[in-house]
Amino acid sequence: MLGLENITRSVQTNDYIIIDGSAGVVIVCPDPEVRKRYEDKKRLYEEAQDDLLDYAKLPAVTKDNYSVEIGGNIEFIEEIPSAIAHGADGIGLYRTEFIYINRKQLPDEEDHLAHYRSVVGVEGLSWSTIRTFDLGGDKFFPNAKTSRELNPQLGLRGIRFSLKEVELFKVQLRAILRASDRGKLRIMFPMISGIEEILEAKRIFCEAKNELLKRGMAVGNDIEIGVMIEVPSAVIVAEELAKEVDFFSIGTNDLIQYVLAIDRINERVTYLYEPLHPAVLSLIKQVVDIGHKAGIRVAMCGEMAGDPTYTMILLGLEIDELSMNPLAIPRVKKIIRGSTLKESKTLLNKVMTLSSSSEIRALVEATMQKRFPEEFQVNGQ
Ligand code: PEP
Ligand code: MG
Repeated sequence: MLGLENITRSVQTNDYIIIDGSAGVVIVCPDPEVRKRYEDKKRLYEEAQDDLLDYAKLPAVTKDNYSVEIGGNIEFIEEIPSAIAHGADGIGLYRTEFIYINRKQLPDEEDHLAHYRSVVGVEGLSWSTIRTFDLGGDKFFPNAKTSRELNPQLGLRGIRFSLKEVELFKVQLRAILRASDRGKLRIMFPMISGIEEILEAKRIFCEAKNELLKRGMAVGNDIEIGVMIEVPSAVIVAEELAKEVDFFSIGTNDLIQYVLAIDRINERVTYLYEPLHPAVLSLIKQVVDIGHKAGIRVAMCGEMAGDPTYTMILLGLEIDELSMNPLAIPRVKKIIRGSTLKESKTLLNKVMTLSSSSEIRALVEATMQKRFPEEFQVNGQ
């Protein structure tokens, strides 16, 4: 196969392989979560329309002048040109665990640095948000440091794993700090469930910084620190968390999974996975209100942010930044530019009085079909 070097030595008959031609990556035997993510990407790719690309370069501003920042979610640095071409203002989520994928050796500080220098200070991006690795169980690990877990979604993943493997964590943190002299960098921690975890992550971050200063290396002073809000307990203690960080980023993929107790990759319960569940909307609203009261920015980087069905609802909630798969950006911009904040708030207020997901979905879908008939065609039309 052209350009795939020694791939044939790494695969065996019947292996499941993802070939992502746009990012130039091949993933051999992906875990179910990665597989699911690529199925979504494939769908978006098929749905993407060239005529929507006109919206990519236009600002995400409503008709009554309310503006939203738009981020691109990336897994590989090769996706950066696509994020810029599709209209991202910055990178809202860089899933750095993908640096560990398909490797024989763990990445060292220089490996990490090379990745972060490709994403920070890039022309065309105003900021970049690096999420520390959301590794867990034996995900992506050549020499598994932990044993297989029966319930990995509730196991040693995300920040829990980083705080257990401090040296591994510091390798990444030092590289992030070293990349910060290139441009505006935001760092965020995944799977924070309470105040101790953010305090400990920040303490280790300071230690990593001091290690670099001792080496005589320059580090930027204006790195913003954020937490992902994706565990329901983080919403409950959000007031305390807000005192410790510069921004929140709502990870709806996990937040929905944990609050509704639905395994996000189990197809048998997909029918219950409902972003418009009143409990989900109420949690999101709490996070935005608490964040804004505390004077910090609130972003959303879960899949919900990139689905145009929810755009008016998210506008009504006044989320400051929506970060999504780059291919989804033009359509979401089109909806934002065709809406007003006023009508979005009216829709949200109505939705917040309804008690069932089905009523909410019916109202939201009917509203979107009426407002944007060409984007939301009714079946059979
Ligand atoms: C999320 O949980 O919404 C999120 C953005 O993180 P990931 O999908 O990588 O778990
Ligand atoms: Mg998550």
